[in-house]
Amino acid sequence: MRGLIAFTALFVAVLAKETFEGHQVLRIVPKNEAQLSLLKNLEEMTEFELDVWMGVTGVSFPVDVRVPPHTLQSFKSYLESHDLEYSVMIEDIQAILDVEKQQMESAARVAEPRNTDSFDYSNYHTLSEIYSFQDMLVAENPNFVSKIVIGQSYEGRPLNVLKFSTGGSNRPAIWIDTGIHSREWVTQASALWFAKKIVTDYGKDAALTAILNNMDIFLEIATNPDGYYLTHTSNRMWRKTRKPNPGYSCYGVDPNRNWNAGFGEPGASSYPCSETYRGPSAHSESEVKSIVDFVQSHGNIKAFISIHAYSQMLMYPYGYTKTAAKDQAELHALAQKAITDLASLYGTRYRYGSIINTIYQASGNTIDWTYEQGIKYSYTFELRDTGYYGFLLPAREIVPTAEETWLALMAIMDHAYKNPY
Ligand SMILES: [Zn+2]
Repeated sequence: MRGLIAFTALFVAVLAKETFEGHQVLRIVPKNEAQLSLLKNLEEMTEFELDVWMGVTGVSFPVDVRVPPHTLQSFKSYLESHDLEYSVMIEDIQAILDVEKQQMESAARVAEPRNTDSFDYSNYHTLSEIYSFQDMLVAENPNFVSKIVIGQSYEGRPLNVLKFSTGGSNRPAIWIDTGIHSREWVTQASALWFAKKIVTDYGKDAALTAILNNMDIFLEIATNPDGYYLTHTSNRMWRKTRKPNPGYSCYGVDPNRNWNAGFGEPGASSYPCSETYRGPSAHSESEVKSIVDFVQSHGNIKAFISIHAYSQMLMYPYGYTKTAAKDQAELHALAQKAITDLASLYGTRYRYGSIINTIYQASGNTIDWTYEQGIKYSYTFELRDTGYYGFLLPAREIVPTAEETWLALMAIMDHAYKNPY
C-alpha cells in the first residue's frame, strides 16, 4: 500500500504542471558601474532561485528577473540594501498563464482546422498542432512546399523544416528559425503566420515572387521541440534543451550558447543548471548539430535569420567578441532599413547593432557561427515586447507581431537576393 501511495505520488508529480503562483517579474535598472557588476552576478546567486528574463546590458538598461514567492522578500531586501531600484513588472505570473491557457482551450474547442485557411493564427498552438499545420501546408501546396526532417531532438521528436521552392536544384537559400528557446512562444506562432504568408503572397507580391523565383526559403518553426512540448505540458518557462546533465539534477543546454563560435568564452555559463549553460562541448545538442549538418551540406545559404523574443532588437554578429564583423557597415545599414520598415506598420521601435554592443556578450550563439561559415546576412531578432509581458505576450499580439516582423524579413531577403555574393 505504501508502495502504491509512493508510486501514485510520483506519478502525480511527474504529470503535474508547475505552478507560478506568486512568482513576480522584477525590473531592476542599474544606475552605475558598481550596480552593474552586482547585477552581473545575479545568475550565480543560486539562493534566490532567479530566472533571468532579460540579462544585464549596461548602465540604465533594465534587467528583468522572475523571482519565486519563497525568495521574494529576501531578494527585495537584497536589492534595497544595495540601493538597487526595482519595480514589479508582473505581479503574479500564474494569473497571466491562466488567461493564456483559457484562451488556448476555448480556441481548441472550435472544430479542429481542416486546412491552413481555417487555422487560427491569432492563438498559440501545441507542438502537435504545429506538426499538423506543416503537413496540411505541404499537402495543399505539393509543388511548392515540402517538409524535410533534418534530425531528431534528444527525446526523439522530428526536427522538421519547411522548404519553399519553385524549382531548380540547390538554389541560393534563406534560412529562418524560431523557438530555439522554447518559451519564446510568439516566435513559433509568428512562424506559422510567415509560412502561410509565403504561400499566399507568392505570385501576388512582386518582391517575394522575384525572391522565390531565384532562391529557396527554409523555415524551422519548432527548433527546440522537446522544450516546446514541456512549455505546454509542465513548465511554461522552459528555455533550454532537455538532455540530462550527468551528475546534476537539472536538465538541458542553452542551444543559443552551444555553437562552435567563441564556444566556452565569456558570455555563457559552464554551470549545467544555468539558463545559459553552453553544454559539455560545441554542437553537443542534436537540435544544434542537425542545423550545423544541414547548413554545411547545403552549402549555398545566403541569409540566416534566427528569431527570439523578447526586447525588440535586430542584431548581427558578433556576440562573442568586440571585433567588428568585416561586413559591419552593410549589415548595420540593412538592419536600419529592416527596422524602419518594421516600424512603418504599427510604430514598434527596435534597437539594432551587433549582439555584443546591443544586448550583451553571448558566446557560442547561432549567428556568430553561421557568419563564420561565410553566411554574410546573419541576423537575430528579439521580437515583442520590451518587458511588459515578456515571454507571456498575449495572443492578440501574435498577428501584429508577425505582420511587422515580416516587413523586416522581406527587407533582409530582398537585399540578399539583390546582392548576390
Ligand atoms: Zn531566446
